[in-house]
Amino acid sequence: MPTDKRFKLNTEKRIFLSPPHIGGEEIRFVNEAFDSNYVAPVGPQVDAFEREFAEKTGITYTVALASGTAAMHLALRITGVKQGDEVFASTLTFIGSVSPATFLGATPVFIDADRISWNMNPDLLAEELERCNKKGKLPKAVIPTDLYGQCTDYDRIKEICSPYNIPVIVDSAEACGALYKGKHAGFGAKAAVFSFNGNKIITTSGGGMLASEDKSLIDQARFLSQQARDPASHYEHTQIGYNYRMSNVLAAIGRGQLRVLDERVKAKRRIFDYYKNALKDIPGIEFMPEAPYGRSNRWLTVILITPEIFGADREKVRVALEAENIESRPVWKPMHIQPVFRSQNNSKEIYPARAVGGEVAEDLFERGLCLPSGTAMTCEDMNRVISSILKCRM
Ligand SMILES: *Cc1c(COP(=O)(O)O)cnc(C)c1O
Repeated sequence: MPTDKRFKLNTEKRIFLSPPHIGGEEIRFVNEAFDSNYVAPVGPQVDAFEREFAEKTGITYTVALASGTAAMHLALRITGVKQGDEVFASTLTFIGSVSPATFLGATPVFIDADRISWNMNPDLLAEELERCNKKGKLPKAVIPTDLYGQCTDYDRIKEICSPYNIPVIVDSAEACGALYKGKHAGFGAKAAVFSFNGNKIITTSGGGMLASEDKSLIDQARFLSQQARDPASHYEHTQIGYNYRMSNVLAAIGRGQLRVLDERVKAKRRIFDYYKNALKDIPGIEFMPEAPYGRSNRWLTVILITPEIFGADREKVRVALEAENIESRPVWKPMHIQPVFRSQNNSKEIYPARAVGGEVAEDLFERGLCLPSGTAMTCEDMNRVISSILKCRM
């Protein structure tokens, strides 16, 4: 084997950011799906998963879908978001939160984060709605993201939106198992979007859920997710739908995962506490705060690194971890600085979108690093991460 002294061969096992963690009962439900021969995008596992998810979250109506992004697309379309409309969204989020607005020809307006929760800043939202109201063009929906498993301050956001009758569609993709004032993430919104992508706290390998108290919204979503087939023995269509339904096999995995959700939240929170205990006194390192109104699921442990104090910046730490075969990731790059949403850039497509503030999200992106937070991690794994971070100061 050729040797190159510049590269150290790392034989230690890779530590991933947030790998899937199977509970035990998943395979039993998958076998049930096979035994019943419902290897299809509908079936008894899907029905049961929807019912059990509704019980777990306390949100009455649910529809299981192919992804969180699909759930957001359906929610926005059914809410009436159309060509030329605006929707307000968190700038500090993942693209799947806001790309559906562009599918419908609408324009996102990106609202900055606050420092209490890192979620949509309610004061900025209130100011911008007031300005828009004066201009006579209000957004069709407000989409706050529950970042890294921490709920937005729903009561404040709803209080601000309700005088204008603007629906709040919460992106709770990262927040399964999180609580707001004792209720599950997404509870009380017009609609809530969840994701079961492979990196989320519970997974179906890929999948999503739309949940709401509005039965007609969920009925329409179910209808549109199955190609908008009108009732008839032949295929009759008076609307264009999508192929967005969750497969029965994947719903079986979801049922098993739902049974270990509480355990997973506890494990994620223990991981956060372990890192925090080890690093809290290190000058230049801070942890993502937990807002007093809720309980985060701590999907990912996120730290902020102040380079002038710590002695190395976020990128240097990330690269150093990678060299030790440890996966970490910068905080989401804010949407308002993504090339695809800027009017002057080198990207292949442009959807010009304005921002309200943005400095906080930019700072969190600059300094924020998501640490490995897989629920099957051992103390030894975490110690490896911690010592690799500390070595960067030298
Ligand atoms: C994962 C995620 C989504 C998209 O979910 P998919 O199931 O991957 O389509 C949307 N918003 C946020 C904030 C996410 O983290």
